[in-house]
Amino acid sequence: MTQHPTPAQPTAPPTEHAKGPKAHSPQAGTQTPDPKIAHGWLHTARFLTTAPQLEHLPPLTVPEVAFVGRSNAGKSTCINTLTQQKRLAFASKTPGRTQSINLFSLGKQGVTDAVLADLPGYGYAAVPREAKLRWQRVMGNYLLTRENLRGVVLLIDPRLGLTELDEILLEVIRPRVEEGLKFLVLLTKADKLNHAEAQKALSIARLQSGGGEARLFSALKKKGLDEVAQMLWRWTHDASAPVTAPVPEDEPPALD
Ligand code: GDP
Repeated sequence: MTQHPTPAQPTAPPTEHAKGPKAHSPQAGTQTPDPKIAHGWLHTARFLTTAPQLEHLPPLTVPEVAFVGRSNAGKSTCINTLTQQKRLAFASKTPGRTQSINLFSLGKQGVTDAVLADLPGYGYAAVPREAKLRWQRVMGNYLLTRENLRGVVLLIDPRLGLTELDEILLEVIRPRVEEGLKFLVLLTKADKLNHAEAQKALSIARLQSGGGEARLFSALKKKGLDEVAQMLWRWTHDASAPVTAPVPEDEPPALD
């Protein structure tokens, strides 16, 4: 299994890397790039740091896109397919194993202009309840308070549909989505559905996500790859989008 460096030894210091004077400022406008440009940009993904707790996450000013979803939804496969790297993200399903938020830098010539955040999968039955609750709290806090969070990709296995935890997550982020946070429901493993099933899953997901974006994705058949790459590029290169998080008055609800 791939082992990322510990937070004490990040491959690149976040302050120099992502906040330095060399960082690209987001380009004005939201033009859809050629898929090749979007893919070339995603292929620059490199490990930045891992944070076992929220306070270990480096504060960043570049836009961040979080990938969330229940265990086994296909999140690691999706990140690895989008970035064309076999083992950048990996599934951590061992009960009791410390789960972390992993950050990956994106940007040409080693200059970070965006960050992907891989959040721990939830809902894995064998994880002890206490660890589950802790992680659900970390995730809820992250989604509500991460200031540079620009977008969230929620990965769903369409054969299972939205689980209760997915629905709670939707509730948690709804206020931020209303304030401009980008949001995409990605229906993974689309190769396992026939056309009619896929269309049905898509319309259900659109309804459940409150009219938000929903797309079909298959790592196996490379379906949806261009669209998602272009969407992530647009989200993170749109100068007009807000990146400031509202400060929650109370502790966010645990995603239990
Ligand atoms: P994670 O726990 O969300 O990171 O899920 P993984 O990426 O480890 O995927 C869970 C399982 O689904 C693995 O057995 C993958 O091989 C499988 N999987 C992921 N993406 C696809 C896909 O596009 N098509 C098919 N058929 N299987 C997939």
